[in-house]
Amino acid sequence: MVEIKSDAALEAMREAGRVVAHALAAVREAARPGVSLRELDEVARDVLDRAGATSPFLGYHPSFAPTPFPGVICASVNDALVHGIPTDYRLQDGDLLSVDCGARLDGWTGDAAVSFTVGRARPADLTLIEATQRALDAGIAAAVPGNRVGDISHAIGGVARSARCGLPVDFGGHGIGRQMHEDPHVPNRGRPGRGYPLRHGLVLAIEPMLLSGGGDGYWTAPDGWTLRTADGSRAAHIEHTVAITEAGPRVLTLP
Ligand code: MG
Ligand code: MG
Repeated sequence: MVEIKSDAALEAMREAGRVVAHALAAVREAARPGVSLRELDEVARDVLDRAGATSPFLGYHPSFAPTPFPGVICASVNDALVHGIPTDYRLQDGDLLSVDCGARLDGWTGDAAVSFTVGRARPADLTLIEATQRALDAGIAAAVPGNRVGDISHAIGGVARSARCGLPVDFGGHGIGRQMHEDPHVPNRGRPGRGYPLRHGLVLAIEPMLLSGGGDGYWTAPDGWTLRTADGSRAAHIEHTVAITEAGPRVLTLP
């Protein structure tokens, strides 16, 4: 079921989104060679705690996963596209890190992700991150009343295709509100003019994940959570929580 949010709810979601943005900024600030993913998780926990927010990630246990998720961030390194567990792995010079974070504040949820490089960047990684950002921007631009979910999907897929990047078909964006995952599903590719109609008060997490090798394949690591590209190529994942409004798309997960 799709829930359309009141304007008051959108304001409350903006505050949850602000906490997510602050947590991601703090993680990015702390990330450098030698820092462990677990330490980055602690950084995000501190931000959530100080804001009085809780984590919708911590203890999340969907049917596909063997164990509840142990962190407040997903930290996905290099060939990991999403759902990386914040382990004791220490970042190395040249790593590509994608960090996904959620926050729940006053009953409302925000969800966003960033991708960035650590230390000296590989030029190809910067190109991949830039393409993923463009895909997200195109998806957000299509998130307007009168369009449909398929218009967002089509916009994201078009950027990925022109960048010769793959997209995992089974994962994409989602409605968001009191729950982190609500209807409708927002695929990262699709046909324009199809799917759920967008209108004022619908809030979506839009989240392209681009695979630099060009293939769509991925596999689940032995931890049961981390998804890695089938060809070993690097991946990037960038996400915002976006409200569809009569005044245009409103990104809720900004500082
Ligand atoms: Mg997310
Ligand atoms: Mg999401």
